[in-house]
Amino acid sequence: MLDNEISQYKTHQVEVGATTAAPDIKNISAFVPEPIFEAQGGFEYKSNILGLVVFSVAFGVVLGRLGEEGDALRELVNSLFATVMVLVKGIIWLSPIGVFFLVIGRILEMDNWVDVFTQIGMYSVTVMMGLFIHGIIVLPSLYLIFTRQNPYYFLKGIFPAVVTAFATSSSSATLPLTITCLENNNNVDPRVTRFVLPVGATINMDGTALYEAVAAIFIAQVNDYNLGFKDILTISITATLASVGAAGVPQAGLITLVIVLNAVGLPAEDVTLIIVIDWFLDRIRTAINVEGDSIGRGIVAHFSKDDLSKLEHVVSSADGYAMVTTNEEGEQNQTGNQTVL
Ligand code: ASP
Repeated sequence: MLDNEISQYKTHQVEVGATTAAPDIKNISAFVPEPIFEAQGGFEYKSNILGLVVFSVAFGVVLGRLGEEGDALRELVNSLFATVMVLVKGIIWLSPIGVFFLVIGRILEMDNWVDVFTQIGMYSVTVMMGLFIHGIIVLPSLYLIFTRQNPYYFLKGIFPAVVTAFATSSSSATLPLTITCLENNNNVDPRVTRFVLPVGATINMDGTALYEAVAAIFIAQVNDYNLGFKDILTISITATLASVGAAGVPQAGLITLVIVLNAVGLPAEDVTLIIVIDWFLDRIRTAINVEGDSIGRGIVAHFSKDDLSKLEHVVSSADGYAMVTTNEEGEQNQTGNQTVL
């Protein structure tokens, strides 16, 4: 494998000298030399996580659309997944012992426990405030702007799902209840809920993205690592992509946080610093993830209302199907091979 395939290309500003006074200058004592910088680039031996994530997402999308030709690779990936799941189950059984020693190890390394626990407290407050602002102001505002309807009335309908998400820490486990709440309490068309919600529960995790970005910045600060604008930008992009990869199960975000830490060169083992409080923050971010999915679905339902009303209903049976649509003049058209009475 070539060097540049496993490393990142970075450009640095290097000071290469200073300006000198021109020979014809009159007041030579007033001359102040200025440093001259040159941009120098090179490959660094650090895994290119952002590149890998972007490549993997593109690869997965293409593989998913490939049809028959992609079957063999999909089966291989599926059986790899099944094998890894068996291994993971074994590791999960051992994890309480491992986590215990990891946390104890970090605590014993600390010089000043009080400082570190204060920092963890401030970190938790920051994550919670961010999530509350997102859940109570940003998401409802988006709903209001796009649909011109009362967002808090909409949120009342999905309240049981949000509470269940808080209780289970899993947006996937909450999915059936989210669908029920939206269809029964908010009268949402099932054709929208059943398409948008499963996709949203897997891909859209705004709470997790927000938490991962704050956690990475917190770990950088604990390590006295100065984050520049480009580091913050890298953290934001990787946190968003990593949250897409996180499964809707408890504490999945903590695992994908390692990707974000790697992207900016922070020590992955420092996730142990935040493990102690993650069980609680996970509950809040899962509730926000479920709220984000539901608000997204509300907006999609609003924009597809006209199209869906044209598509009145689909009738299918063992003999065939018929799709009944209504055109702008209110006349019904029927396609398919079954007669609808
Ligand atoms: N528990 C979250 C969810 O199910 C994922 C995470 O750990 O952030 O949505």
